[in-house]
Amino acid sequence: MEQIFLPEKGKSRNEIFSELKKLHGSDVNWKTGRMFSLIYNGGPDVESVAREAYAEYMVENALSPFSFPSLLKMETELLSMLASLFHGGDAVGSMTSGGSESILMAVKTAREWARAMKPGVRAPELVMPSTAHPAFNKAAHFLGLKAVVVPVGKDFRADAAAMKRAVNGDTVMMVGSAFSYPHGMIDPIAELSEFAEKRGIWFHSDACLGGLMLPFLEMNGYPVRPFDFRLPGVKSISADIHKYGYTPKGASTVLYRSMELREFQFFAYADWPGGVYGTPCVSGARPGGAISSAWAVMNYLGREGFCNLANRAMNATRRIREGIGSIDGLHVMGEPDGTVIAFGSDTIDVYVLRDALKKRKWYLESQHLPPCLHMTISPVHDDVVDDFLLDLKEACGEVSAIGGNDRSEEAVIYGLMGTIPDRKQALEMAVKYLNDLYRLKQ
Ligand SMILES: *Cc1c(COP(=O)(O)O)cnc(C)c1O
Repeated sequence: MEQIFLPEKGKSRNEIFSELKKLHGSDVNWKTGRMFSLIYNGGPDVESVAREAYAEYMVENALSPFSFPSLLKMETELLSMLASLFHGGDAVGSMTSGGSESILMAVKTAREWARAMKPGVRAPELVMPSTAHPAFNKAAHFLGLKAVVVPVGKDFRADAAAMKRAVNGDTVMMVGSAFSYPHGMIDPIAELSEFAEKRGIWFHSDACLGGLMLPFLEMNGYPVRPFDFRLPGVKSISADIHKYGYTPKGASTVLYRSMELREFQFFAYADWPGGVYGTPCVSGARPGGAISSAWAVMNYLGREGFCNLANRAMNATRRIREGIGSIDGLHVMGEPDGTVIAFGSDTIDVYVLRDALKKRKWYLESQHLPPCLHMTISPVHDDVVDDFLLDLKEACGEVSAIGGNDRSEEAVIYGLMGTIPDRKQALEMAVKYLNDLYRLKQ
């Protein structure tokens, strides 16, 4: 296997930074608002506050609240702000590295809670809608639960009746999204959480995406389906600050209705020669910068700032939805509740359309089951809606004219993955692809 060695002598500062700049140049430029995934762009002023606050604590380690009490203070303050946004009077939480870790912790906590509450359960199960984030499948995989995946309804929301039917004596957890990543839907969480509570099942509301959007949409007068601690059956909520909190990656939260519930999350080991060791979540050492930048941006924006940004993002979402609806052959998937749009087509290949948009420097994600393109809308997108819709219309015309023949490798692979009938084979292909991707290429 090809190997690369540590340079014998260190390179100069200049060399390093010019190389970094060059490397960076090959990436998608998200700053211009032409990217509709991965980055949640609150504008240059928010970015500069986040950057400076991150740098201030770049080196500090949040593992030790005794050495860096300022990080503990910031963390508990921002968790309290989130608890109040979710109307959790006694709610407490933890900061994690991201939505996946928040979800992993919620599933772990539910499992420990169920061990205490339902000692008869031998093989715990988690019932989830098919649109819930794969972080739940991953958590179930890591923690030895069986994930029972229930197809969503025609409206792309969780099918509450089918989920109830999927529950049995081994079910310890049910989940719903607010809103879902694939189509931007809020699941019928009121109905599901009420059922879960009656049956002694833990209910988790996944607001990783909507957690810092929905409360402000509600304050702005938009109708928002209930998802938070106002529903008595909701035991935990995950909410990412590194999404619509507009801060750098590495900042998410998981909140519990009470301290008693959160206790099931913590881990401690008292017999290590290195000292009594305890952590709230997965990570040991934790970046102080993720906490300080999240704290700084939340205080910089305040309720008013978040409401304004939420309004801009929702405005952009509405205009893009209307624009897509007016283009022949395209349709928005269902009626999204949040600032996500997925759209498909009965007449053209959407994966080829994605390539045609990429040529025009618009970056959307592909989805499947069924095929569609995905957009997460940021406040800055409000400034580019008209340009985007013009190019979208033109790209649709181009794709209709050429048909589905001129497909990039990416489009072909994507088209294939959704249509392989043997899903086990699809899974194996995806793992092999990943394993091959993460190796040195010249
Ligand atoms: C992004 C997301 C997650 C996972 O969060 P990461 O920060 O990517 O680990 C979970 N649930 C939903 C609904 C999400 O959008």
